[in-house]
Amino acid sequence: MRYLIYAVLAATVWLLLRGMARGRPGPSGQPGSDVALVEDPVCKTHIPKSSAVVVHRSGKNFYFCSERCAAAFRDAH
Ligand SMILES: [Zn+2]
Repeated sequence: MRYLIYAVLAATVWLLLRGMARGRPGPSGQPGSDVALVEDPVCKTHIPKSSAVVVHRSGKNFYFCSERCAAAFRDAH
């Protein structure tokens, strides 16, 4: 019986963590806000939009933590 309680607790915590990870606004979540976090598609790091390296590709903006990640993205696309 005790194990069941632990299992329910673990499932609840897991769902909460998963919800937090997916609940964040994406790169287009808060347009115009410089403090919005954007995800680097290369290394999956979240960085503030204002300090990100921006690459324009097929009409979209992609944001990177560093010039190195931007270069890796350019090479792959
Ligand atoms: Zn990066």
